[in-house]
Amino acid sequence: MTEPLLGQMMDIPLNVSMLLRHAARYAGDTEIVSRRIEGDIHRYTYRDCEKRARQLAQALIRLGVQPGERIGTLAWNGYRHLEAYYGTTGFGAVCHTINPRLFPEQIAYIVAHADDRYILFDTTFAPLVAELAPRCPNVKGWIALADAPKESPPDSVPLLYYEPLLAAEDGEFEWPELDERLASYLCYTSGTTGHPKGALYSHRSVVLHAYGASLTGAMGISARDSVLPVVPMFHVNAWGIPHAAPLNGAKLVLPGKDLDGKSLYELMEAERVTFSAGVPTVWMGLLAHVREGGKRFSSLERTVIGGSSCPPAMLRSFEDDYGVRVIHAWGMTELSPLGTLARLNWEQSQRPREEQRRLLEKQGTVIFGVDMKIVDANGAELPRDGVAFGDLYVRGPWVIDRYFATETSALVDGWFPTGDVATIDSEGFLHITDRSKDVVKSGGEWISSSEVENIAVAHPDVAEAACIACPHPKWGERPLLVVVKRPTGDGLTREALRAFYEGKLAKWWIPDDIVFVPELPHTATGKLSKMKLRDMFRDHVWPTKERT
Ligand code: ADP
Repeated sequence: MTEPLLGQMMDIPLNVSMLLRHAARYAGDTEIVSRRIEGDIHRYTYRDCEKRARQLAQALIRLGVQPGERIGTLAWNGYRHLEAYYGTTGFGAVCHTINPRLFPEQIAYIVAHADDRYILFDTTFAPLVAELAPRCPNVKGWIALADAPKESPPDSVPLLYYEPLLAAEDGEFEWPELDERLASYLCYTSGTTGHPKGALYSHRSVVLHAYGASLTGAMGISARDSVLPVVPMFHVNAWGIPHAAPLNGAKLVLPGKDLDGKSLYELMEAERVTFSAGVPTVWMGLLAHVREGGKRFSSLERTVIGGSSCPPAMLRSFEDDYGVRVIHAWGMTELSPLGTLARLNWEQSQRPREEQRRLLEKQGTVIFGVDMKIVDANGAELPRDGVAFGDLYVRGPWVIDRYFATETSALVDGWFPTGDVATIDSEGFLHITDRSKDVVKSGGEWISSSEVENIAVAHPDVAEAACIACPHPKWGERPLLVVVKRPTGDGLTREALRAFYEGKLAKWWIPDDIVFVPELPHTATGKLSKMKLRDMFRDHVWPTKERT
């Protein structure tokens, strides 16, 4: 037996700190612009950011934080949060981003489950921290991302201040070379199903994901971009943008707490933003602001929309009315989060516009590194014909194996079951038809709630719509559509909206009833909360006329 012949290349572990160090060295003057919670604009460079991240690492080490320990963050998208990303992971601690929009009980659960040592927080969350601190006895200190205040703080909370902590350090600190398999970030799913569960990323998975996200065929971020992540840094690492931007030396624009249409539009224009990313709900506000004010985007070229299904009407409006290219994407916390993005190959881009659109409205094709399949109830793979739909399974180097602090793997035969229901077509395009718990099971057949919703929001009088399953005596479940009207859509009736479905959808997919409400419930990540809606309409009484 001969010895295996190993490659003879440098064995350099992939570390998160490499990303910022690279930007500081090779894009040192490139700006990071933040709208601070105080309302003013803060500007500095990647070079400044790295220096302060090193100071933070020194400060945390001085506080006794050990590699592997978790440091929580409760913060908006801003420069200090970015420093926290790198100042923690850079010396081997784990950055645990916490979603401040969760209920305090859920946050207390997560903090205890993660066993956070310190928690860095934006001062807008001071009341939340005051409420949380007594319930989180294992947190050694709460670090306000601010200067020290003039008056002394209440002593009920062990408070520290970020700026004096940093000022005490000189930044003369070398990022240690860490085993790339060590933990870097901890992100919890928002718990739309049961308790929140933690996905513990490694250094390797984060760096590989940053490479993947940057590809021209993915987000296509480059040094000529000015990038504004609307998706919060407390939600799946802002889809990897805080890593992909420094990897490419792209300008970064961090919007802080004001995510309404006007604030975003003004920041995009002022900072000549070329690329953005966020969930559909945020873009609804932005589009409404631009539409009502008769405005244009003067620099925005493209935007990634994901997190929930992007309604085709939104995609068309961005493209036809404003010349902004939409990249529809699918992912989840367990995937760091990017799985697929919709973009065309050369041949597809030669097809008639309507055919191109039908592809671009789907969730797209996998990024290199991710593999996917759909399976039936017995786990047998289903055909990739765009028709068969089944449970979506994925695998890849940035997909979780198991949830944080659990003993058993979450995988089935080496694949991660996503909980989504989808089709895959012969060209590899994924189309999410539902989350498995959201499908409407009518007479043993499945109805895709997102198809039903997409048609509703294409109606000019509809602002937002949710299709949910309601118990039905004859069919088991039938679709109920819950609608928020546009301000201009006062006259819209149930009958008119049902008629709008004619010819657009199989007859038996058309909702049996439509209810108008002033607003829909959303989860902490801005998605429709179908669980709440199902609760609200559990005892819904169907119109008397039987479905034929
Ligand atoms: P949670 O919903 O618990 O906050 P995530 O934020 O990780 O968890 O959301 C992941 C889920 O969001 C996916 O499993 C999928 O159901 C949904 N999702 C994400 N992107 C899309 C998309 N483009 N279209 C439809 N659903 C999507």
